[in-house]
Amino acid sequence: MDALDQQIAQYSQALEDLILPGTLIDCYEQHRRRLMRQASACFNDNELSWFLDMLNQLRGVADRQDDFDLLFDPMMYTENSPAWDAPPGLAIDLPVLNSQLAAFPFVTDDFRTIAEDEIGHFRTLADTYADEAMCGLALLAAAALVDCDPGITDRRSAIRYLALNASAKLEDYWAEDDTFWKTAGPRVVKLPNLFLEQKESLRRGSLEAIHGPLTEVDLTCYTDEEVKRYAFNPDKFLMSGKTKHMPVCGYCQERVAKWVNYARNAEERMMVQFGGKLPVA
Ligand SMILES: [Zn+2]
Repeated sequence: MDALDQQIAQYSQALEDLILPGTLIDCYEQHRRRLMRQASACFNDNELSWFLDMLNQLRGVADRQDDFDLLFDPMMYTENSPAWDAPPGLAIDLPVLNSQLAAFPFVTDDFRTIAEDEIGHFRTLADTYADEAMCGLALLAAAALVDCDPGITDRRSAIRYLALNASAKLEDYWAEDDTFWKTAGPRVVKLPNLFLEQKESLRRGSLEAIHGPLTEVDLTCYTDEEVKRYAFNPDKFLMSGKTKHMPVCGYCQERVAKWVNYARNAEERMMVQFGGKLPVA
């Protein structure tokens, strides 16, 4: 991670701490980012970028991802999920993971053949890495997927877990025919009460401790221009000197969230239009 990336990551984390989750999806995203930060703490930046590169070799040039949160992304399967509009909550239904799906008896041979090929391919790619590194990486994947029972006990199970859940070929399979995922039924992911936690920390005045007492500016709603700018640039938001208004104003939170969702949906519409792959600019 270079200095700018690092700065932006810090800004994004600070932004996360400032904004109360507005929807169930927000709760899920905030929770998984927290788990990922914990799970990646045992690796340095070089190790993480080697891992990412190895996983991208499995996926192939056309399906590379820039980060672990995109690579292990259960949201891919939740395009039409009601969680996008549901209020913050303590549990979310998500599609089963490929690693879980592989254990279901109704899964056919063509799925299993792809799965076994991917595991074999990844085993070769991971050849030079120690068992410990593979288990740690698999736990990072489990964190990104909020999988609290990934069953990772040794090198073999770690490689299997990573290959199945990072596989672009299985993503393509799902895009073509998601019958297996639907037949398997949802996995229910329990979430901590992030809304309450963050409200409590705001109430305890951690914001005030960092930034001083509220002033007139902090109580003034953002202009439409500002809303747009902040939605697309967390760094600009954090440098604006107007961050304190966000947690105190539900109206402005919603306005920003609308733009963020709009951007997300636009990306998804484009993905659908280009057959699951973002066009190369
Ligand atoms: Zn406002």
